[in-house]
Amino acid sequence: MTELLYLHDSYTKESDATVVKAEGKRIVLDKTCFYPGGGGQPRDKGPIEKEGEKFEIINAKKEGNDVVLEVDKEGLSSGDNVHVTIDWDYRYKLMRMHTAAHIIDAVLYKEANALCTGNQLGAEKSRIDFSLEVLDMDKMKKYFEEANELAKRGIEVKIYFMKREEALKIPGIVKLAAVMPPAVEELRIVEIPGIDIQADGGTQVKNTKEIGTIELLSVENKGKSNRRVYFTVQ
Ligand SMILES: [Zn+2]
Repeated sequence: MTELLYLHDSYTKESDATVVKAEGKRIVLDKTCFYPGGGGQPRDKGPIEKEGEKFEIINAKKEGNDVVLEVDKEGLSSGDNVHVTIDWDYRYKLMRMHTAAHIIDAVLYKEANALCTGNQLGAEKSRIDFSLEVLDMDKMKKYFEEANELAKRGIEVKIYFMKREEALKIPGIVKLAAVMPPAVEELRIVEIPGIDIQADGGTQVKNTKEIGTIELLSVENKGKSNRRVYFTVQ
């Protein structure tokens, strides 16, 4: 089982770890700050170092309770003490994008009853799909103005764990209908008080003012009632 450091502290940029399983280029660590990807947030980038030798992580995925990391070459063995560093500029941008996405989701839901049906975060631009019958660009610009106004209030983003059965009683806690939280005892909750609350396994900024300015880039029609909204943070 890999302890997921990023769930408790999204700001962990590096950590020591021990290799607990190794199979060729595929390894499992006892703990990791490296986000393996999921929920529309891409995996982190960065190396694992063993006694000065660097192994670049080229793939990552969760398998049960393990995070399986694939590195670019063999040479890591069970019992090795290693050091993991993540590309912080890249990750921090994704954190700002992720918290921005939660605010945009909340505004679109409140103002237009639009449900988020999918999302893909990126460091340069991100996109969210909304189920929305009519696309009105003037209104969309207003929604983004509201999202910016909320972000600039400097609201503290709260992350905590709740018993699954209690959490699922909170209305709207599962925002993406297609993504039911895993069948675990405790769910991780990301709450932007007064704006949004949802079960979420991604990394977030501590305060909404860290997002900066949210910029609407474009909107595409993707089917009858699906609007794909592209945005970035500056
Ligand atoms: Zn999220």
